[in-house]
Amino acid sequence: MKNSPPPLEAQAIVSDGQPAPATRSFRLQVALVFGTLIAITAVALSLVGGDILTKQVRQRTELSLAVVAGNVSRTLASELFSGSVEVLKMAGLQALWTNGLSSPDVGQMLALSKATTPYSSWVGVTDTKGVVRAATDGILLGQNVAQRPWFGAGLAGHFVGDVHPAKLLSKLLPPSASGEPLRFVDFAAPLVVGGQTVGVLGIHGSIDWLSALIDKLLPANAFQREIEVFVFDREGTLLFGPGGKTAPYLAMGQTAPLTVPGNARGPTISVVRWADSREYLTSQQRVLAQSTVSDLGWQVAVREPVELAFLEVQRATQLALAIGLAVAALGALLAWWLAGRVSSNLSSIVRAARDVEAGKDGAEIPLLSSSEELQSLSTSLNRMTRRLQTANQEMEATVRERTAELQEANFKLGQLAQRDPLTGLLNRRGLDAVFKSALAVAHRSGRPLAVAMVDIDHFKRINDQHGHDVGDAVLVALARLIKKRVRQADVVARFGGEEFVVVLPDTNLDGAEQLAQLLVEAVASHEQPPYGRVTISVGVAEASGEATDLTELLQRADAAMYRAKHLGRNQVCR
Ligand code: GH3
Ligand code: MG
Ligand code: MG
Repeated sequence: MKNSPPPLEAQAIVSDGQPAPATRSFRLQVALVFGTLIAITAVALSLVGGDILTKQVRQRTELSLAVVAGNVSRTLASELFSGSVEVLKMAGLQALWTNGLSSPDVGQMLALSKATTPYSSWVGVTDTKGVVRAATDGILLGQNVAQRPWFGAGLAGHFVGDVHPAKLLSKLLPPSASGEPLRFVDFAAPLVVGGQTVGVLGIHGSIDWLSALIDKLLPANAFQREIEVFVFDREGTLLFGPGGKTAPYLAMGQTAPLTVPGNARGPTISVVRWADSREYLTSQQRVLAQSTVSDLGWQVAVREPVELAFLEVQRATQLALAIGLAVAALGALLAWWLAGRVSSNLSSIVRAARDVEAGKDGAEIPLLSSSEELQSLSTSLNRMTRRLQTANQEMEATVRERTAELQEANFKLGQLAQRDPLTGLLNRRGLDAVFKSALAVAHRSGRPLAVAMVDIDHFKRINDQHGHDVGDAVLVALARLIKKRVRQADVVARFGGEEFVVVLPDTNLDGAEQLAQLLVEAVASHEQPPYGRVTISVGVAEASGEATDLTELLQRADAAMYRAKHLGRNQVCR
């Protein structure tokens, strides 16, 4: 199976035959670097942004609770103060009391006061014994209230009394809106006429009314946010809770959730676990009294369930994180895309370089212009590869040329090794090669093959009489003559000093003998100066089959040739 090349990105650079450690693609590296940077930046920004947002939202939430607490505390202070002032103003009307505590004017004044101070449920006057002498709606008239704390305190001076449940009035007044027992804040002052204390003026302020007033100070979304207001006394005992209700909270032992220092003028804000085991963002503040007598040391606590209070905070954090992650994801995509753009150019160079390396036709490094560096790199590589390609082509041409020359030289050398330099005929080695192929052809075609061994008679004498050069010339002339007389397909070789072999394909012994005879006659009739005439003796033999080898055949031909010598030379023997 042929392996497909690994993808461009994953291919490792190989040097010295050793595979380099697997390298990440340029695109992946760039994308990783930038993606990580963008992601870190985005998440960091979203965390910082989320933190800022969280702080802002938390501050706003805390502030909104503190504002409610502040408003409620100011309103309470103002109501307590106005009650204390109301009782003082009325008690100061000496002319009214001089006509007797039960005069119609007194009754009118009390009714007027109740009507104009919305929190007051009952306004009445007692004599110094504690017997009620005048009262709104005639309630408690003639009864003795000497046991009620407000009477004793009012007899002694200006008095604002803490919340207490109604005793005598509970059955005489309409029930409270909350359904809880009636409770009052008392305001009292002595009635002094001509330096003489004649009685006590008392006002019972309704807690119900105060809690209704408080509800109006809540923000519009207080219901959804479950914002609730509680008022505690100096000791932290619950005076009234949301909707004027106290009982359920008292039942679970609810006291002031925070400890606010006595001199604290602003709100204290904290997340506190209340008696119902839930956590609330809580703002608690002291009611800053407008006068000493109206200072009951009350505290206002405003609460909002922490999960609702910080819902926005949570949302803000989530939003910031979501934006951060979205930006990070977008950034990563952008980084991948940009990295792709940057690396695609490099990839195209790498691909082209590989094509050049593989020697593909027309492969060249592309000229890029997307950046200065790439332009310079691609131009340099382009020039370099062109130069290399040209050099390579030139080298290949030179190699071809040299190879051809070498082949020719080799061929010549082969020729030389197989040829006799004097006559140009095949030498013994050449004869060997030719004979082998001739024998194979004969065997394959089933045709005969014969050889003739030619030896010049008394050649030694020619050398001796005329010199070696003449001997050589005789050899050359004889070679030419034999060659001229034989067929094209016949092969003439110089076998030894003055011996020649003629290979006669497609010729049997008779044919060989005939040819040999012709040669003998032709040589003998050929006059050559300066030595005159030479004769030859020839022995012929025919190959006897596949097993025939040249040596054996030549031995037979040689033997026949020697017989011809013995029989008188200038003849043929077989
Ligand atoms: P025979 O009739 O018995 O063949 O007598 P011959 O003289 O021809 O035979 P012999 O073998 O006695 O002598 C061969 C001679 O051929 C001896 C040698 O000097 C001569 N000869 C061999 N090679 C060459 C050559 O290349 N050039 C010349 N000029 N003479 C050669
Ligand atoms: Mg000889
Ligand atoms: Mg001879």
